[in-house]
Amino acid sequence: MTAPNGVWVYAEVRSGELRPVSLEILGRARAVADELTTHLVTVTIGAGEGLARELLRYGSDEVVAIDDPLLDRYDTRLYTDLLEREARAGDPAVLLLGATRDGQDLAGRLAVRLRTGLTAHVTSLEVDPEHRLVGWVPGFGGGIEAGITCPNHRPAIVTVRPGVFPPPTPGEARGEVRWVRPGLDESAFGSRRVAFQPKGTGVDLTRSDVLVVGGRGTGGEFDRLQRLAHRLGGEVGATRVATDAGWVERERMIGQTGVVTHPKLAVVLGASGAVQFTVGIEKAGFVIAVNRDPDAPIFEVADLGVVGDLAPIVDRLVKELGEA
Ligand SMILES: Cc1cc2nc3c(=O)[nH]c(=O)nc-3n(C[C@H](O)[C@H](O)[C@H](O)COP(=O)(O)OP(=O)(O)OC[C@H]3O[C@@H](n4cnc5c(N)ncnc54)[C@H](O)[C@@H]3O)c2cc1C
Repeated sequence: MTAPNGVWVYAEVRSGELRPVSLEILGRARAVADELTTHLVTVTIGAGEGLARELLRYGSDEVVAIDDPLLDRYDTRLYTDLLEREARAGDPAVLLLGATRDGQDLAGRLAVRLRTGLTAHVTSLEVDPEHRLVGWVPGFGGGIEAGITCPNHRPAIVTVRPGVFPPPTPGEARGEVRWVRPGLDESAFGSRRVAFQPKGTGVDLTRSDVLVVGGRGTGGEFDRLQRLAHRLGGEVGATRVATDAGWVERERMIGQTGVVTHPKLAVVLGASGAVQFTVGIEKAGFVIAVNRDPDAPIFEVADLGVVGDLAPIVDRLVKELGEA
């Protein structure tokens, strides 16, 4: 693949902040652009002056900032229109987005409009010897890894899972911001905001150094886990069973369909260790597992395993940490 028109990254802004996944992608995209011997462009919508300039510190050669006071809220149709317009004009070889709710929404629509391919939810990116971008996606419940390319159409659109690439350290600003001012009024929006009520707690487990993770074996007693997380200065995470049961918010689900985390410490309580779950903690620095079944697969990924009933173990830990 020749890539004269660059690798593009869509940098998502939410509640006045850059989404961490966008920065993670930028760290990796710089290397991808270098390997494809092309430039790196960051496109952002509604970022405002400060964030657009901040993006120059993450290795892009150019930041395209689509800006309007009305763009502080996401609108599926409008955001797709704006990105489509830029992508048609710039004709990039690659467009990378975070596999967030909005990123997935945009990626699918853009792929249809631009008549190109979409590789969704990749966990790694590489450039093959023929200079094609390959996105790797776990398939069949984590049993295989599929490498997907888009050789005949452009841009190759790819969504990247949060937490799979380390966040880059910002450096010296380089490149320039190119401002695009579409001049909007309310009629540009496909929806009207009546009120804004955020769902969930807004917690981002990929940012936490310590996670206390509960599964079915907790019986839903997440207050207990919360106390331990509090003592350890961490956050509570959960398996799919626990989030499906409504014991904690969906945003705390770890694993293949949840978030991929990389804490320094993960304490996993009452989770069997299904592969769809463990892919979300395999990058943890140290894993402690408590399970009453000595044959539970979670012990295969744990650095320290404790066989026993989790409730008294957690209560004792909370007590002793409190005293310490
Ligand atoms: C396509 C697909 C995607 C999926 N994505 C995800 C995902 O992203 N994240 C995810 O988590 N799952 C995912 N799953 C589901 C996954 O396969 C498992 O079903 C799930 O992770 C199991 O959750 P669990 O470990 O809490 O429950 P279980 O497998 O039921 O395990 C409960 C464990 O608790 C132990 N236990 C019970 N009582 C106690 C006690 N008192 N003290 C100590 N231990 C106790 C038991 O011995 C058992 O090992 C996915 C499945 C599919 C098919």
